[in-house]
Amino acid sequence: MADTKLFIDGEWVEPRSGETFSTFAPSTGEEIANVAKAGREDAVLAIEAARKAFDEGPWPRMSGAERAGYLRKAAEIITSRQNEISEVEARDGGGTIKKALFADVPGAAGAFNYFADCAENVADVEERAASPFPPAESIVRREPIGVCAGIIPWNFPFIMASWKIGPAIAAGNAVVLKPASFTSLSAVEMVKAVEEAGVPAGVVNFVTGPGGSVGEELAQHPMVDKVAFTGSTEVGRRIMQLASSTVKKVTLELGGKSANIVLDDADLDLAVSGVLWGTFFHNGQVCESGTRALIHSSVYDEFVGMLVERAGKMVIGDNLSFETDLGPLVSPSQADTAERYVKLGLDEGAKLVCGGGRPEGLAAGLDQTAYFQPTILEADNSMRVAQEEIFGPVLCVMKYDSDDEAVKIANDSIYGLGGGVWSSDSARAHSVAARMRTGTVWINDYHMITPGQPFGGYKQSGVGRELGEYGYNEYRQIKHVWSNTSGSKDQYLHFAALSAALS
Ligand code: NAP
Ligand code: MG
Repeated sequence: MADTKLFIDGEWVEPRSGETFSTFAPSTGEEIANVAKAGREDAVLAIEAARKAFDEGPWPRMSGAERAGYLRKAAEIITSRQNEISEVEARDGGGTIKKALFADVPGAAGAFNYFADCAENVADVEERAASPFPPAESIVRREPIGVCAGIIPWNFPFIMASWKIGPAIAAGNAVVLKPASFTSLSAVEMVKAVEEAGVPAGVVNFVTGPGGSVGEELAQHPMVDKVAFTGSTEVGRRIMQLASSTVKKVTLELGGKSANIVLDDADLDLAVSGVLWGTFFHNGQVCESGTRALIHSSVYDEFVGMLVERAGKMVIGDNLSFETDLGPLVSPSQADTAERYVKLGLDEGAKLVCGGGRPEGLAAGLDQTAYFQPTILEADNSMRVAQEEIFGPVLCVMKYDSDDEAVKIANDSIYGLGGGVWSSDSARAHSVAARMRTGTVWINDYHMITPGQPFGGYKQSGVGRELGEYGYNEYRQIKHVWSNTSGSKDQYLHFAALSAALS
């Protein structure tokens, strides 16, 4: 018997197959729930419910201000349950309770509130362009796209769910959400909040199950108009292929290997903390993590010494304790990946500066196999450890001699998602930022993502943007209406391009 259900057409239902799968708390390895395992047929039912809600239901026909009320209510419910949701999020995914309370839950509520503001305030009728053929008028309307599928990863399941549901329904679409199989539980809480906020049946549907079947169905089903995917670049390519069968609109938020550039005039004390924050927040399991630190050769030795010293003070342990800075990775296999890459790096000639293995001395009951020490490798940018996304607590540090060289190394990557520049010279920092081929650059900061600013990737880090009005408009179609309601027949000279008989 499943502990969770699917949410289809406003009802919590069992999957047709009756099957379940287990989800674990990575900190202890304990099984914490039996999750409903949807199959393709459940995905199709969810898509059909969304289609009906979009084609026949009230949601797309309401005013934006009216929809905004439901989103704000959902945000309120989420906030009122922040403690219980934070615990679910942290237990299931292995992130720290601090991350859940400070980032995940307020971040998701903030996204709902932001997209409520968009629904209320961002115009649907955009412009009345002067027509070259008066009195004909030209009007550009923004309209919802239809049925949107959202497929999300395991690293920020609660926030990612809000980034898919929030803008989609704010703009008047209907949605089907599939979370990652490692972390299905917190999204259940979000769907409950949306349900309690009174969003009509069929507008938000929710299916838990394997990417290879449920995810593929969502990505290729003809009734789906848009697929919004966050996850690995590899699966992103597959999504694009599947969506091409009916030429769906696709937005992709994919992997990264972002550069954090420390210029020689940086406040070193701040930059050391910034580089550690940029890499080790959530154990490096963050798509925009600054996992390549490029450090000017004149400050390199001092800087790396400070990194090691401060990294050694971070507390590894039970992720539900407020004292803990670094919990487990999402699974033992993710920690194995980190270990494999460290070994690969050493084989390639990288030098181990600190960390490199499972931590010793964890408290009784914690599953050491899911943990990994914060690790620093001195590497060359051509090495696989510097080119491939590891998604673990592994930082590559590299030396450079000039701003131009730093920019060149930063851009020598198939990815372009985030990046940082640390400097006390604003003009110089902005010049470096302008030359970085990446979707977000933080100057003297890192990881600051807010609902009102666009986020997304250059190159193989993605297509399109989430958040901000840019992200909102990714959920809206553009319709041009050419209207001539007061003209007379002598304005139709262009008909003569077919035949004088028409004029
Ligand atoms: P993943 O393996 O690509 O999975 C992401 C989602 O896709 C999961 O829900 C997964 O379901 C599903 N999926 C897997 N195969 C599929 C298929 N063939 N068709 C349709 N859906 C499929 O990524 P992950 O390991 O969960 O997350 C880590 C990756 O996400 C990293 O590369 C990271 O950089 C990226 N990420 C990017 C951003 C961003 O905003 N750019 C944000 C966060 C994470 P199952 O779980 O059932 O396999
Ligand atoms: Mg889990």
